[in-house]
Amino acid sequence: MPLPLVDQYRRPVTYLRISVTDRCNLRCQYCMPAEGVTLRPKPEILTYEELLRLGRVFASLGFVKFRITGGEPLVRHELVPFLADFARIEGVNELVMSTNGILLTRCAEGLCQAGVQRLNISLDTLRRATFELLQRRDELGRTLEGIEAARAQPFRRIKLNAVIIRGVNDDETVDLARYAVERGMEIRFIEFMPTGLQREWTHDRVVPVAEMQERLRAVWPDLAPIAGPEGSSGPSRVWGYAGGAGRVGFISAVSETFCQACNRVRLTSDGHLRGCLFSDGQRSLREVMRSGGSDDDLREVIRGVVWNKVESHRIGKDDFAPVELGMSELGG
Ligand code: SAM
Ligand code: SF4
Repeated sequence: MPLPLVDQYRRPVTYLRISVTDRCNLRCQYCMPAEGVTLRPKPEILTYEELLRLGRVFASLGFVKFRITGGEPLVRHELVPFLADFARIEGVNELVMSTNGILLTRCAEGLCQAGVQRLNISLDTLRRATFELLQRRDELGRTLEGIEAARAQPFRRIKLNAVIIRGVNDDETVDLARYAVERGMEIRFIEFMPTGLQREWTHDRVVPVAEMQERLRAVWPDLAPIAGPEGSSGPSRVWGYAGGAGRVGFISAVSETFCQACNRVRLTSDGHLRGCLFSDGQRSLREVMRSGGSDDDLREVIRGVVWNKVESHRIGKDDFAPVELGMSELGG
């Protein structure tokens, strides 16, 4: 097995997040403006052949975990057969996906059979009116049905992701945790981050994870951090209920930085490789491929992006500036 690449701060980088489309069937307030984002013309989006080639090249550099994301990955045509091919690439040990869940009723079985091992499904609210406000579409019903469709398949794990925004859904942390624990799923609460293009972020709308933990502990006093390697998963800190009845994760991009554990790079749907969600540095792998570059040329560019990953994001610092791409393009 190839040795993992490391960046200049000695962090091993073995995880690629791939945005397969910039399109989406929702318009979440925290991700994009109400009118959506300007979509890339189709010829600019990486083809499945190009993505499979990149999968093989990244695997040859010691990448083992690949997350398919977007935009909403399930709106891209013929995704399932592509994933079946991707899962067969030697070295692809973990193939996982982030989705808003709406299309899972028709795709969950195919995804599982194609070799997708784990799903992260976004669920920020259990209230229809809040969903309509936050996601700007009346789709809570299909999202919940999608979660049930996924639960009926033998995925290794299904996690829920909830972005918590003060004044919108911060009063739902306990209900969301209960919904997850009753169904044997882990839920991860995510602080609202100042990502590019959405115009809703202000510091006072961020609910620090410490506050979320306090709300949960008022109901489950024995909820506590899990010790050892189980207690952290990339940027997420994991807590458990007494008796092993379930787990809750917390991602605190704003109130504490998680960058020291960063092990990932991101591929945009139009083929740019980025080292950080919060920094605009990028290189185009599409250009290398479409100008006849070799796999070695690709490896050289990838090594450069990994080496140059920034040490830490600048959220909360005076010189912080949001990036110029939205989460849906960056593969959030
Ligand atoms: N459409 C899929 C979904 O919503 O799960 C995958 C793409 S979405 C960009 C990936 C993740 O980014 C979601 O879990 C979403 O909640 C998260 N996200 C988007 N904007 C965010 C923000 N401003 N702060 C925190 N998380 C955000
Ligand atoms: Fe779409 Fe996901 Fe962004 Fe929501 S967070 S608008 S579902 S890409």
